[in-house]
Amino acid sequence: MRDTAKHQGLRNQLANVLKDKGIIDEKVLNAIRNIPRHLFIDSSFESHAYQDKAFPIAAEQTISQPYTVAFQSQTLQVKPSDKVLEIGTGSGYQTAVLLELKAIVYSIERQHELFKNTSRFLRKLNYRPKKLIFGDGYKGLPDEAPFDKIIVTAGAPFVPKPLLSQLKVGGRLLIPVGETKQIMTLFIRKSIKEFEKHELGDFAFVPMLEEKN
Ligand code: SAH
Repeated sequence: MRDTAKHQGLRNQLANVLKDKGIIDEKVLNAIRNIPRHLFIDSSFESHAYQDKAFPIAAEQTISQPYTVAFQSQTLQVKPSDKVLEIGTGSGYQTAVLLELKAIVYSIERQHELFKNTSRFLRKLNYRPKKLIFGDGYKGLPDEAPFDKIIVTAGAPFVPKPLLSQLKVGGRLLIPVGETKQIMTLFIRKSIKEFEKHELGDFAFVPMLEEKN
């Protein structure tokens, strides 16, 4: 696993591309500058690792496009020591961004192969999420709730109720909602009963799948 000055240069360029596309949070841009994305993807794609593109990973899943990761991270407004729940660990790249933002991260993945490989890989890179869980993100993580922020990184056909209920008052749930394409949807919990909803444009995600039978 090599990270070189050339990779660093490409990451700086990628951060500039994201800036041009409207990412203004310097902490998020610094996370993009720090994380060796080329190590999160198959080596056959290495030369493209710092283009603003999604790539296939194992189990027919994808590593999200850097713009999408940056947009979600910026919109969540992660603060140091925020307790954050991620649904869809995948390659672990978004997890790494959350950790660079100094969040306390819990992340759930339903594909066992990805759960296993990404757990090992993040450890190797010295990224330390609080917990990686093999399980079904539709249920959230009731034992660890409530969370300051919840981020869903797969396209959800509907908004799972447990995720809303596991949010602190003042907390944010960011979830792409839709079947073929998704509308990035932000919920801010105003009180126990009230949620403010914002729709933030179209994105494309792999589907959030219901539990395997
Ligand atoms: N954050 C990831 C994105 C991976 S794509 C990254 O940066 O690489 C979405 C991930 O969500 C896939 O790994 C998929 O297996 C996972 N997923 C889909 N449905 C899920 C569910 N119900 N619970 C948990 N994870 C799920």
